[in-house]
Amino acid sequence: MAVAARRSSQCTSCGACCFTANPEYIQLWSVDRERLSGQLTEVAHEINGRWFLKMTAGHCDSLTVDRARGLYLCSIYEQRPDACRAFAEDSAACELIRAEALLRRR
Ligand code: SF4
Ligand code: SF4
Repeated sequence: MAVAARRSSQCTSCGACCFTANPEYIQLWSVDRERLSGQLTEVAHEINGRWFLKMTAGHCDSLTVDRARGLYLCSIYEQRPDACRAFAEDSAACELIRAEALLRRR
């Protein structure tokens, strides 16, 4: 799968909003499933009749993590679900998640 850049350089060196162990973190709606089409069962799974992005090793399975270079890239950037598109960089939610990620690294 090709790896695309994610939004700003701040996002590519952060990726915090793509980290969680919650298997129901990003729900996919019909528009998301259509956009992912052929990749759907590769990047997502069905839980009790609802579809979610797969999570692996504490982060979205579609996030390519290169800790050595400090890079966190979305491998389905062009097809990412609406929830990811709607998450605004530098919003209150973004700042909270980044603060929590910093605390975990201490
Ligand atoms: S937490 Fe904010 S800065 Fe970090 S990747 Fe997500 S949107 Fe970008
Ligand atoms: S699809 Fe991309 S932007 Fe959305 S959680 Fe996964 S890696 Fe992050």
